[in-house]
Amino acid sequence: MMNRQFEDLIAKLKTHDPYTNEAMVRSAYDFCMKAHGSQLRASGDLYHTHPLAVAQILTDLKLDHASVITGLLHDTVEDTLASLSDIEKEFGSEISKLVDGVTKLSQLELQSEYTKQAENFRKLVLAMSSDIRVLLVKLADRLHNMRTLHHVTSEEKRKRIARETNDIYAPLAERMGIQQIKDELEDIAFGILNPEARESVQSRLRFLYENADYTVEAIIENINDCLLKAGVKATISGRQKTPYSIWKKMQYKRIAFEQLSDIMAFRVIVDNVQDVYQTLGALHNSYLVLPGRFKDYISTPKPNGYQSLHTGLIGPFNSRIEIQIRTKEMHQTAEYGIASHWQYKQGASHDGRQYAWLRGLLEILEQTSDPEEFLEHTKLEMFQDQVFCFTPRGDLIQLPRGATPIDFAYAVHSQVGDHATAVKINGRLMPLRTILNNGDQVDIITSKSQNPSPTWERFVVTGKARSRIRRFVRLQKRQQFTELGKSILHRGFRQANVDFNDKALETATEYYKYLSIEDLFAAVGEGNHTASEIIQSAYPHLKSSAQQTHKTEAVDEEIKIPSTTKQKSEEVEALSIQGLISGMAVRYAGCCHPLPGDKICGIVKTGRGVTIHTYDCEVLKAFSEVERILDLAWNDPKESSQRFVGRIKATFLNKTGSLAAFSSAISKQKGNIVNLKITHRTVDFWEIIIDVEVTDVEHMNRILAALRTLSITNSVERI
Ligand code: MN
Repeated sequence: MMNRQFEDLIAKLKTHDPYTNEAMVRSAYDFCMKAHGSQLRASGDLYHTHPLAVAQILTDLKLDHASVITGLLHDTVEDTLASLSDIEKEFGSEISKLVDGVTKLSQLELQSEYTKQAENFRKLVLAMSSDIRVLLVKLADRLHNMRTLHHVTSEEKRKRIARETNDIYAPLAERMGIQQIKDELEDIAFGILNPEARESVQSRLRFLYENADYTVEAIIENINDCLLKAGVKATISGRQKTPYSIWKKMQYKRIAFEQLSDIMAFRVIVDNVQDVYQTLGALHNSYLVLPGRFKDYISTPKPNGYQSLHTGLIGPFNSRIEIQIRTKEMHQTAEYGIASHWQYKQGASHDGRQYAWLRGLLEILEQTSDPEEFLEHTKLEMFQDQVFCFTPRGDLIQLPRGATPIDFAYAVHSQVGDHATAVKINGRLMPLRTILNNGDQVDIITSKSQNPSPTWERFVVTGKARSRIRRFVRLQKRQQFTELGKSILHRGFRQANVDFNDKALETATEYYKYLSIEDLFAAVGEGNHTASEIIQSAYPHLKSSAQQTHKTEAVDEEIKIPSTTKQKSEEVEALSIQGLISGMAVRYAGCCHPLPGDKICGIVKTGRGVTIHTYDCEVLKAFSEVERILDLAWNDPKESSQRFVGRIKATFLNKTGSLAAFSSAISKQKGNIVNLKITHRTVDFWEIIIDVEVTDVEHMNRILAALRTLSITNSVERI
């Protein structure tokens, strides 16, 4: 009986394995058909179609006739009445050993609870594949089983096989350098384990290709022109990555689909190694190079023998693409991995030495640590102090390692830095303190109302960003000191009954050798000069004794506070506390514990900002430099969630539960006790001082009233 597929297989096999024992291959196919008989696959096909398909995969990998025969026979011992000795009798010991190896791997698979120890299981598989062809047959077997896995009705079984493929066989295929098989295994497994995700990636890919303003062919043509100009003859092909490899990249790099750089990969095959590097040079000259993507696997081949140059470019039509450049021989190895070595070695010698390279390779494969990774790190160390990131327009920004989006923003433009509010890294909103990685696309979101924050200084690494932030904070402070100084002087001048005008201020500015009136205001705001000093320099004809008299009067006036008439004028002039807080250091005096709602004053201290006191505070009354006292007012306390500490002195009966009753009365009024001190204790009474956090003076009054209603209370007062 003629089987077309089988005849094709024989023809192909003979082209790459001149030692093919055609008769033996034919009898293996007969043996397999007889042994499996009428057995059926889950698909409903006759079982022998499976070993035939496996043999075809092995033929396509250009393996030798022994591997192909093993492929045809691989399930006979496990699944039929045929025995290993039958096989040895008919096909000799080489074949029977190979079939035995594959059978043992299949049995291992049935028994194993591998998931927790995938790496150990992979080692075990390798160890049992003393002849690498056993593993190759096993991979071909698994590939065909995966291709037909959708026929298996049990979802649980499909998923188990898919997971095993992902954990064991795809990594093995990769280590053996058979990229094609690895990609296909992973992609099928992906479709079974996560069908929705695969479908969504695929539909996005379809959309992308249908709507792209360029085609794969146009890119190939463009690259080809570029290479022709450089005098390189090359074969260029383009391929789309599998949905799984795209998905994996999205996960690994935590990037959105839109940000994926290389959905398309191109391969440039040239005649010799010289041309490989010439191609690289030509491409790097013509297109923008994506940083961190260049890999030289020619000078440092992968452990599986893979050789190629890889680079990432912003290619023709602004497409972000990956390019692999290699010779025909390198390509052979890349496509067929270990299998390709087989055909070079085959026929060179038929003694045992031909397996020496296999043993050496197995040793490398068995290593858990990844030598490739090691070499890569060693090479990358030269660039360890730099990262390269892209603007949304594709411009490259070079930054020191550890740089954050704020550094990036300032590197783009000072204005971008000053107004940065948020950042999208590779399409995702991320914190501004995120450390950038090579190849990140960074999109700074700005807002006109945003200003540099002093906290940014903690996570920027570039000098430019740091100095801009510092400069801004300095300017902001200065502006607030300037406003404060102006209002201090305004009031001081008014109280001294002298004109507050530019001419007077210019005189004072000149006297103190400031560059501008603004500088003078700032100096006063910072407390370097008092208002009376300025008045004296502005109006030198005024007698200093008059000043003195006035000062004394002012103090008297201040002590008499608060008279109703004065209050009125003060309200007009009062500075908002809120205004002070944003600019200056503000402290609440420990002597009088001012609360919102209290009438308050501020004392300006040289270079130290303002201390807030209540109007009737004894410390304030004793303070003689009137021009340093500011009239202040609270903003509407209801708009603020800020809390203030007020101090209460109380005396109550010394009996069980008194203190508890006292504190629960305070907490019922939503006051928060921050400190409590027993100042006096007798047989009958306790005297305590309590610091309570409140929102304003009204809140404090409610608490005082509540405490006064307690039966144990003797006296309660605010101090
Ligand atoms: Mn099988």
